[in-house]
Amino acid sequence: LQNAVLHHRIVVLERASTRIHEQEGRTVGRIIFTNANLLDGDRPARPHSTVVVEGKLITAVGTDAPARQVGDRLIDLGGRTLMPGMITGHFHATYDEVGARPEPYGLEAPPAYQAIVAARNLETALSSGFTGAVSAGAPHDIDAAMHLAIRRGLVRGPRFVPGSRELSTTGHANDSMPWYWEAQAWGGMRRCDGEVEIRRAVRDEIKRGARIIKLFVTGGHGVAAPKDHLEMTPGELESAIDAAHARGVRVRGHITNKAAILLAVRLGIDIIDHADDLDEECIEAIVRAGTFVVPSLLLPTTLLALGQTHHGPDAAMRAALEHMHKMLPLANDAGVKLVAGDDYGAAGLPHGTYATELELYVRDCGIAPVDVIRWATKNGAALLGRPDDLGVVEPGRRADLLVVDADPVADITVLQEPENLLAIMLDGAFTKDALDALASDAPERRETSAP
Ligand SMILES: [Zn+2]
Repeated sequence: LQNAVLHHRIVVLERASTRIHEQEGRTVGRIIFTNANLLDGDRPARPHSTVVVEGKLITAVGTDAPARQVGDRLIDLGGRTLMPGMITGHFHATYDEVGARPEPYGLEAPPAYQAIVAARNLETALSSGFTGAVSAGAPHDIDAAMHLAIRRGLVRGPRFVPGSRELSTTGHANDSMPWYWEAQAWGGMRRCDGEVEIRRAVRDEIKRGARIIKLFVTGGHGVAAPKDHLEMTPGELESAIDAAHARGVRVRGHITNKAAILLAVRLGIDIIDHADDLDEECIEAIVRAGTFVVPSLLLPTTLLALGQTHHGPDAAMRAALEHMHKMLPLANDAGVKLVAGDDYGAAGLPHGTYATELELYVRDCGIAPVDVIRWATKNGAALLGRPDDLGVVEPGRRADLLVVDADPVADITVLQEPENLLAIMLDGAFTKDALDALASDAPERRETSAP
């Protein structure tokens, strides 16, 4: 009997403790940001803005502060920038110096170890100001497990669209398994051939939890093979796209040459990764079809800087890169849905450096900072599948927000330093909150008090 009474008391105490924690974690009143330099994810900045967050939603955006209510938290941003949480459209959660080890991708370490790496990388993305990430492929169904772990609160991470293995035909540029190993293991790459087998592979990846299918359609862009081959037949490509769409899942392809870009767009692929041979004809077709393009130029830029290209002369990669520097402003002006994202976790390009590419598009392509920020916010939200409730700061949308202690339009590089992110909000809850110091730390006072 004593044990039963004791057990009852413990249960009562635990329930009380849970209630207290729930209250602590819940936003009791509204959060009202005033005097914000508002970068809404679409339009040029609007100074002296007010943004109201209630629960998970942005409920008001304007210039007037609303009448105070009990429980409100009023935050005077003193002209600092408020913007949407960023979204990376090309994310490999398990990447850990990929390319630096001799084993094929995804077979460098046991799957459980790779899952721990993925959890760390997803947490890094969130703490770098990325409140959304769309996978570009991962081994061992780890993405699906990460998606579940984030949803259940075991792992801190952004909104995450889990990806498939990278589907590739036998002997394709990305099929790096030596034949004499006679190995049947799948790492990050899944070999499949013919329309029936590819359709089955797509369905199986979806069954295992993938919500976006990755295809390797050509070489090029850092892959050790010439970019000019189509390494999947048109029929294979069509069956992959059809199989995924039939289950409501989107398809992305590593595609670099012009013929493959035009074919994939015509067959209804959702995302072209890289698109190195983009030209006016491709741009027209892409705009008409509404296809997303994730150019990810930071990888080739980094490889060239490190002198680490391993697929033909550097001159070819440099020419492809310079071609894209000229084409991206045209694509941007024509209305192509360009999205940020790159191969972070590849050797030389560590996770956590996600905002570096934004500087690249401004510096090397001459694209306006507000446009590049739109790629990483509004366009990213559309690629993530939430075009109407993420990516833009306006009433009715989810409160995924950043407070930046500088103006990214004046200097896009400020987004590269996590210390500049004074607050990160995901679904109306702060995952980082260094805003209490603001009242006594106005910019002009900070300068004089600096040591
Ligand atoms: Zn990639």
